[in-house]
Amino acid sequence: MDDHFSRRDLIKGLALFSLAIPTVGLLSTSCVQTTGREDKNTTEAHTYYTLPPLPYPYNALEPYIDSETLKIHHDKHHAGYVKKLNNALRKLEEARNYGNYAEVKFWTKEVSYNGSGHLLHSLYWESMSPNGGREPRGQLKEKIDENFGGISNFKKQFTAVANSVEGSGWGVLAYEPLGDKLIILQAEKHQDLAIWGAVPLLVCDVWEHAYYLKYQNRRIEYIKNFFNVINWETASKKYKLLRGEKKPETGT
Ligand code: MN
Repeated sequence: MDDHFSRRDLIKGLALFSLAIPTVGLLSTSCVQTTGREDKNTTEAHTYYTLPPLPYPYNALEPYIDSETLKIHHDKHHAGYVKKLNNALRKLEEARNYGNYAEVKFWTKEVSYNGSGHLLHSLYWESMSPNGGREPRGQLKEKIDENFGGISNFKKQFTAVANSVEGSGWGVLAYEPLGDKLIILQAEKHQDLAIWGAVPLLVCDVWEHAYYLKYQNRRIEYIKNFFNVINWETASKKYKLLRGEKKPETGT
């Protein structure tokens, strides 16, 4: 049974995919907050999620990611997703309170779009580091070798995938627990083209707002420079957490 993926592991993997991810350590706990108040005009309104601080200064990823882009991206774009996610959840709370579900479809879509935007941006900041740009090591490297035939092949595929995203979206390295595999996915917008249960480990934002000030229409150049700041340490920790430490069976 050691080589087979157990049902318990699958359930664990699926649970980790949910927006509860921050609560189990895959993302900073500062991304989520279950109580609190945000809007002075609606004193009872919940703040469900909060914007995590950037893990480094705005200019830390220069010259590959410019300071102005990083500031606008985090402080305006990411903040906007968090605000809209909280708003949508409040609207659904109102719907429950008043028993009025006429607009539930719209607000549920808003939760998916903005919730996925919040999750992916939180992971994007962690996918880069001023000390990044190195090669993966350990368990994650072994899995990349197994699933992609080496880091060079991985980089080529990831670059091609991210570069060919239609419109706005993401390149995503994810762990897919059902097949026990790493996969490279595209996300259109933030939420489309995902596989249920696959957990993002490392992401590259290819919305124009992520690169246009510095790179204009040269998305490929931005993606190639993303590899100069890529943070494999975070991805490795997330992968190890998902796979769990190999422990001898206790029989109980
Ligand atoms: Mn973005």
